[in-house]
Amino acid sequence: MSIEFVDLVAQYNKYKTEIDRSINDVVSKAHFVMGPQVTELEEKLANYVGVKSAIGCGSGTDALQLALMAYNIGPGDEVIVPAYSFIATAEVITFLGAKPVFVDVEKETWNIDPAKIKAAITPHTRGIITVNMFGLPCDYDTVNKVARDGNLFVIEDAAQSFGAEYKGQKSCGLTDIGCTSFFPAKILGAYGDGGMIFTDNVELAEKMKSIRIHGKGGSKYDNIRQGINSRLDTIQAAILLVKFNHMQEEITLRQRIAQAYDNILLEHGDLQIAPSDMQHTRCNYCVLTAQRDVYKEALTAKGIPTHIYYIKPLHLQEVFDNLGYKPGDMPVTEDICQRNLALPMHPFLSSDDIALITQTFKETKLAV
Ligand SMILES: *Cc1c(COP(=O)(O)O)cnc(C)c1O
Repeated sequence: MSIEFVDLVAQYNKYKTEIDRSINDVVSKAHFVMGPQVTELEEKLANYVGVKSAIGCGSGTDALQLALMAYNIGPGDEVIVPAYSFIATAEVITFLGAKPVFVDVEKETWNIDPAKIKAAITPHTRGIITVNMFGLPCDYDTVNKVARDGNLFVIEDAAQSFGAEYKGQKSCGLTDIGCTSFFPAKILGAYGDGGMIFTDNVELAEKMKSIRIHGKGGSKYDNIRQGINSRLDTIQAAILLVKFNHMQEEITLRQRIAQAYDNILLEHGDLQIAPSDMQHTRCNYCVLTAQRDVYKEALTAKGIPTHIYYIKPLHLQEVFDNLGYKPGDMPVTEDICQRNLALPMHPFLSSDDIALITQTFKETKLAV
């Protein structure tokens, strides 16, 4: 058996009966768009997160865009984001004509450094998008306080952290608006694209529900604001309802695998440190090592797949050239990008798989 980076086939085989039944139910009734499963999922997940509203949408990227649109973000506005993230976090800001302002991350957590946010605030700053990297929440007490002091909103990019906890509160409910992704490889993954937005703010929730359906007003053909078309498919909601029932068990397995990796890899590089008052989802697992290429090659030779999250920091991506950032501006982020190696991480890794992976690290270290 080969080791998969993320094993969605094993997952499907495990829940096959339930998932097939759930999909069939949607297809046989043909409620493909905004069917009852979408509402059921929204209610279930809002309740789980502990907020008033959950709004299904087309992707995690759309969730972020809808949240920014709810705050009327546009030209002249600045939004603070970590330099270490997936492109979507910053792309939605420039898409709306606003300017992303990058802030470096912390050495230990790889999350936005709250101590560096203040210096990035200008009279144009409207808000902050935080990212819970690989599923580890940020220091929200501090981030939310900085935001309150500066009269800024905070949007949580929880694409990797659905199911995580900060001081007993679930991710997606840690700031004004929480956004998650149901991309197949995420913690709660659909069979295609999908996303969800969470908030306690009733006014913002109504606005985002309207924007996701063409800026709809109270009656069907009333369009009262600029909207988009971004809904969660009923089939995806039906699949997610099944997978949600197994999610906590999967997160626990991920945490155990991460612990097993940590025990060995401590000797081989720097690891992401989770503070004790947080629950990490372990959506992805990375080690930082100056010998990344050597380890990568040795793992590949044994059929073990790896990735690099992320090979280039956001502030140095070509698309943001006009913002004028240069190498050296975000030293911690740049260091993580240079040394990062992501290992297979999913609930179906066996103890033999883990042993092979960690053994390969040990042998490679002896050889270099
Ligand atoms: C996956 C991801 C997104 C985007 O989600 P999609 O559903 O693929 O649009 C945004 N931010 C982060 C940090 C992600 O990992």
